[in-house]
This record gives sequence, structure tokens and C-alpha cells, in this order.
Amino acid sequence: MPLLYEPAGRAREYSPLALNIYSSCDHFCTYCFVKTMPFYKGSATPVPKANIVEKLEKELSKTQITKQVLLSFLSDPYCTAESNYCITYQVLKLLNKHNVPVAILTKGGSRCLRDLDLFKQFHNIKVGATLTFDNDRDSFAWEPGAALPLDRIGALRILHGEGITTWASFEPVIEPAQSLNLIKQTLPFIDQYKLGKWNHDPRADLIDWSSYVAQAVKILRDNGKQFYVKEDLRKYAHGLTPEESDMDYMSLTSQYIPETQISLF
Ligand code: SF4
Repeated sequence: MPLLYEPAGRAREYSPLALNIYSSCDHFCTYCFVKTMPFYKGSATPVPKANIVEKLEKELSKTQITKQVLLSFLSDPYCTAESNYCITYQVLKLLNKHNVPVAILTKGGSRCLRDLDLFKQFHNIKVGATLTFDNDRDSFAWEPGAALPLDRIGALRILHGEGITTWASFEPVIEPAQSLNLIKQTLPFIDQYKLGKWNHDPRADLIDWSSYVAQAVKILRDNGKQFYVKEDLRKYAHGLTPEESDMDYMSLTSQYIPETQISLF
């Protein structure tokens, strides 16, 4: 199976292509669906996929990728293990060399700032975080290995200040009031928002999704933000524009650049 793949189902709403670097994730979110997937090996310690850099180089040398590649769905590119392996850094260098548009999604917080200089070399990159809770207690209870909310938010603020396009995923939404608070707090330094709901848990049925999505959309529109409402949540929304319902509206793309010209930049 190729490393670069088209995600299926709900994941496709995030990106036309994706790449998973690690075998598992040490953020241990209690709502994580990855451990329910057939390929999941149950390892608590993420390890990079075998020979990922060499294999990726081979794939990229065969095809010019112009669609956005998301890092990652089934693991986190800035999981704790990345501090030892630095494989995400090597993968990013390779993707940049081949002019591949990249969207990073992480709960690793400021860990990603190690690669700030590399982000700045990209023609097409955006860096985002999943924002779930606005306080340490809930964050630690639900996502015990992930960076705490202020660390994630602080990293996005720095990235934005350094000229990097920033984005946030609001999924799962477990405490809608906290998600709305986070949306308001992050307006000055987040460029794009993906709005989802909470799935796979009966407690989600108790949430007034119509009220949540109406409030979130109003805040984002009032502040001129780009956003996309995922299909699950869209059932509860009214009057969305075609862009707000277009999964690829905010996806990055790149034009084909012959290899001989890439070195000129
Ligand atoms: S960060 Fe993502 S992949 Fe990692 S445990 Fe949490 S939900 Fe799962």
C-alpha cells in the first residue's frame, strides 16, 4: 500500500491526500477511534513506519503531487516520540523538496515549533491543532498525553505571528460551550476552521447541535473567517454557503513545477 493515500469517509473531509508517519500515538485520547481499527497493533510507543523516508522518496520521484497531503490521521506527526526520532522533520524536508502542499494537524502543541524554520521554506503549508477543551483538567482527563490547551493555542499564535497559515479542527466537540469559547479566543491568530461534532458516543445525542453550529457559524462569519462545516454537523445547520459546505474549499494545491526550477526558489 502506498504511503500517500486518499482518506475515506469522514477523514476525506479534511484532505484529499494523507500520510501517516507513526504506527500509533502516545497522546492517548480517550475518544480516539484509531485503536478500534483492524490494523492497529496496540503499541503504546509510536514508532515510525519502516524506511518511511526512503519509501516516500521513491513515491514522490514517480509522481508530482499537487493536492494537499495531511499529516496525519492515524497518529500525530508531533507525538512525544517525534522528539527522539525526528522523522516528521525528515518527511517534511522531502515533501518540501518535491513542492507538495502540506497541512499539519497536531495535538503536540509547541513541539511543532522546532520545525518553524522548515515551515517557512514551504511554498504551501498550513499548520493546525485540534482544539477541544479550554481548561487543563478536562484536557488532561480526555487527552492525557497531548499538549495542554494553552500550549496548543500559544503555538498557533506564534506560527501565525511568523507568517504561517494556521487552522484548527473542532472535532470532537464534547463541551460545546468550551469549543465556542476557544473559537472566540483564537480568532486573532487562526486563519481557517473545520467544524465537526462528536460521534461514536451516546452522550453526543444530548447536545443541541443546531444551537452549537448556529453560534459557531455566526462568530466565524462575523469575523470574516474561512470555515468548513463537516457533513455530520451540517445536518443541523441552515443557510451555509457553497464554500462553507465544500470539503476542498480550504485545501492547498500547488502547480506542477519542473524539478529543474525548484532549486531556483
Ligand atoms: S492525537 Fe489523534 S491519533 Fe493521537 S490519540 Fe489523540 S485522537 Fe488518537
